[in-house]
Order: sequence, then C-alpha cells, then structure tokens
Amino acid sequence: MKHQARKRFGQHFLTDQSVLSNLIGEMRPRPDDTLVEIGPGLGALTFWLLKAVKHLQVVEIDRDLAEKLRTGAWKNQLTVHEVDVLKFDFRQIQAPFRVVGNLPYNISSPILFALLEVADQVTDQHFMLQKEVIDRMVAAPKTSDYGRLSVMLQAYYDMDHLFDVPPECFDPPPRVMSAIVRMVPKPADERANIPHAVFSKVVSTAFSQRRKMLRNTWADVVPEALAQNAGIALTARAEEIAPSQFVHVAQMLARLQPQEPPSH
Ligand code: SAM
Repeated sequence: MKHQARKRFGQHFLTDQSVLSNLIGEMRPRPDDTLVEIGPGLGALTFWLLKAVKHLQVVEIDRDLAEKLRTGAWKNQLTVHEVDVLKFDFRQIQAPFRVVGNLPYNISSPILFALLEVADQVTDQHFMLQKEVIDRMVAAPKTSDYGRLSVMLQAYYDMDHLFDVPPECFDPPPRVMSAIVRMVPKPADERANIPHAVFSKVVSTAFSQRRKMLRNTWADVVPEALAQNAGIALTARAEEIAPSQFVHVAQMLARLQPQEPPSH
C-alpha cells in the first residue's frame, strides 16, 4: 500500500535521482564509514548510501516507515532506531561518525542545536534543509541573514552551501526552495574553549532585539567594562559582531563566573 506522506513529520520524499547522485558525489561515503541517516523515510537516500557503505544507522520516528525498513530488503545492512531524533542519544554511536539526512524542516534548527552537543564525535554532516535556513547558517556579519543561527553554528563548524534543490524534486513538493549544506566541525582545540551555556546566552540576548545596541540587549548579561576590554563598542548592534568576537566575550565572562569546586 502506498505510504501517505505525514505532514506532522515533515515528509517530503526525494524522487529526483540526480540530486541523490550529486549528494553522494559530495559526500563520498566509504565502505567502513560509521554513518547515521536522520529520517530515512521511504529510503530514497538510504538506497544510495547502502551502495557505498556496508552498514547504516537510521533514526526514524514514523512507526510504519521504521517497520518497513526493519523488515525490508536492506534489513541486514540497517540498524533502525525508531525514535524522535530530538530524544536520540548520539553518544551511543561509536565515534567518529558521519551524519546525513533530508531533514524534517519543521524541526531543523532544534536538530542542528542538538548535534552541537556531539560536535566532538562527528566527522561531518550533510543535510538537505530549507534554502532560507542554509542562507542564515552561512551568512556573514552585517547582512540581513546573519543572526543567532549563523553565530552559534559558525563557531563550531566550517560550512558550505553545496547546491540548491527545487520543490519538484520531492513528492509531495515542499512550498519552499531547498538546498544541501556540508558542516565540518572545526578543529577540537578551537571548539574546546567555548563555554557553551555562556556562549549561547551571550548570543541569544544580543540578537533578542537585533535593531537595539548591545548596551541595551546585554545590560543584564555582559558588564560594560568586559565588552570594552574585548574590543566591542556597546553602540554596535549584534549583526556587526563576528562569531569569534562573541566567543571571546563568552570566554571572558566564563572566567568571571565562580568555578564549581572539584568533586572528590
Ligand atoms: N530521507 C527521505 C527522503 O529523502 O525521501 C525522507 C525525508 S523527509 C523530508 C523527513 C523524514 O524524517 C521522514 O521520513 C519523517 O518521518 C522523518 N522524521 C520527522 N520527524 C522526525 C523526528 N522527530 N525524528 C526522526 N525522524 C523524523
């Protein structure tokens, strides 16, 4: 029986084989890669991945689709995790691993933020997303697309917008243009120094009202003297500040905060 696409799970199935072939060409999966696919759905991408890798871990929330994958022709090559990816513990996958997926667009930002927690275990990520989201991810300072998503992700990953994918490549077609992004975690020593919780607060408060000066948005978060020592003018707006400057402020702020006593 034909599967009825479920809107609540953001189901838009890829049907254009040239898009899949181009994505595989960009990814270059190898037989022994440890690879996790988010949202395999009817298996359009899974099929192409399994031509290249010996085994694949898939995370699928839809009970019917997970069942098809568990019992279908590829069952011996798949480990099927039937779970909400936002509740999936990626630490159970043997590191280092790669992540790929045509993501459900309704929860794409929460998925990207959840994966930040395991950036130290990941080799790379290739995702199909709304083009508009990828434009924001890779945006440069002083542009209208530059915001919290750009800063949070650029601090942790080097990212490339690979190519665009029009709606007619899917069934049913989404209303928006899509695109593929590659995300490669930055070297460990660059990421290890980011105090994540403080960084997240510094960035989200700065962009909470992006037209306002940092003097106002940071009033309760970043002491004026600290911002000035970091070389940031408080008359600036968040969109003028580079990701590395946000990281610097968060590092200085973290040093001011009382450290947890060591546990014995
Ligand atoms: N990979 C398939 C393709 O390209 O044709 C399907 C992509 S479709 C855009 C998104 C897939 O993610 C669907 O299979 C959907 O059921 C699954 N999905 C949606 N929400 C999910 C969640 N919270 N956790 C895991 N999978 C989810």
